[in-house]
Amino acid sequence: MDTSVPGPEVWGSSAACRGMDADLFYPEGRGAVIPLAVIEVCEGCPVIEQCRTYALHHEAKGHWGGTSAYQRLRVRQATGIRLKTPESVEPAPHGTDAAYQRHQRVGDLPCPACTEAHTRRHTGYRRAQMAS
Ligand code: SF4
Ligand SMILES: [Zn+2]
Repeated sequence: MDTSVPGPEVWGSSAACRGMDADLFYPEGRGAVIPLAVIEVCEGCPVIEQCRTYALHHEAKGHWGGTSAYQRLRVRQATGIRLKTPESVEPAPHGTDAAYQRHQRVGDLPCPACTEAHTRRHTGYRRAQMAS
């Protein structure tokens, strides 16, 4: 992790959302709409700046610091900030479904090895579903 951007282990004890239902912060699907309860708690949070900055650099999902995942994506695109997840620091090798997802995330065409791994995983999943 980038040590210049402190994470929740540093500021999390001051987070106003402590103890709140995590589902509010991790919506299904694209999660473009931030629930009012989240907007309100973030606005009053003493660590909103730290939270937002951290999430901009490290969190691909969820509402953080009053921003949605989609808003942060747009800011990254506009500013050239690169998301640094544990996975992007130690990227999955090509020929895996995780690497396929990464191709998709960064918007390039998945390489043949990754496409094959993805198809394999997907087909296996459907077969397992049909069998159950
Ligand atoms: S800004 Fe919002 S999400 Fe971040 S710690 Fe504060 S209340 Fe939680
Ligand atoms: Zn690949």
